[in-house]
Amino acid sequence: MSAARRASGIVADGGPIIAAERLSKSYAKESGLLRRRQGEVRAVDQMSFVLARGETLALVGESGCGKTTTGLCIVRSEEPTGGRIWYTPLPGAPPRDIVQMEAAELRALRRTVRVVFQDPFASLNARMTVLRIVGEPLINNRLARNGAELKERVAAMLSLVQLDPVYMNRYPHSFSGGQRQRLAFARAFILQPRVVIADEPVSALDVSVQAQILNLMRSLQARHAMSYLFIAHNLAVVRYLSDRVAIMYLGRIVELASRAEIFARPKHPYTELLLTSSPNPDPTARKLHLVKAGESPSYGMLPAGCPFHPRCPYREPRCTVEKPELVETGTERGGSHQVACHLHGQLSLRTFSD
Ligand code: SF4
Repeated sequence: MSAARRASGIVADGGPIIAAERLSKSYAKESGLLRRRQGEVRAVDQMSFVLARGETLALVGESGCGKTTTGLCIVRSEEPTGGRIWYTPLPGAPPRDIVQMEAAELRALRRTVRVVFQDPFASLNARMTVLRIVGEPLINNRLARNGAELKERVAAMLSLVQLDPVYMNRYPHSFSGGQRQRLAFARAFILQPRVVIADEPVSALDVSVQAQILNLMRSLQARHAMSYLFIAHNLAVVRYLSDRVAIMYLGRIVELASRAEIFARPKHPYTELLLTSSPNPDPTARKLHLVKAGESPSYGMLPAGCPFHPRCPYREPRCTVEKPELVETGTERGGSHQVACHLHGQLSLRTFSD
């Protein structure tokens, strides 16, 4: 636990609720008709981070960088292959290692750590009514004494996510994308979770609806005093919702700092690439042409040294042979800013507003 706390560089008021310590997830790499094992692919590679009580931590990176796998490892929908995930449900309680939890404890964990998925069209059972979809966690956990109480609690939850309870006997197909995502949040919040892992919750929605869902997430957080692990690739959305941001590249965190630090003073060239690739509504903003585009390499053929070096315009010979560790570099105000780059502090990187 102590290593992960140190690695986080933050201790919020209530302390950590989730602390990942060298978390890893590997998959066997197979090939040929007989599917012979040809080594392994590390989707998540020794990640350490803390999610503090009441905060929103964004995990940001390109598709396939391991963000979703990290979230699924926390609820053990994917089995970690290394490391620890400490869960401290209440301040002062002894942390429990999620990786070691048996079935009963895992069921209890999943009542308080809930997941909202990206696609509200796929994540809701089309053959269930809204009453059943939102009330199912109460039914499965025997938390409603009778049908009347179930309806009452589902109606209250629907009101909370700004949906009219009179629709509780309808099916998901009668709702728009934004309304379906409200149903997904209602289902997640009906058990009053302490942590919600929101996996790209607005990326399948129209832009006009995204802001409504983000505002809903904020108001639910303020009401329930819970934490979000917010998995996203859209930096404008991340900027709006997050307290801290972890930038991931090929299964590792390459930069971790407060939202203000990441957007104003990025220290990793990959963060610069993400920031300057994002659409900026400011027409006076300069365009960046310095950074090399290109695809990230496949997990099966990771380059030696810094994994980002084939795309990095600042690389030096050392970068092709030596892998940089995530180190604490600090901020002017004495805060935390962790970076995995040999040249941190020597580069003058562009930001979102440049
Ligand atoms: Fe670029 Fe080298 Fe830093 Fe990697 S270590 S991000 S290649 S400068």
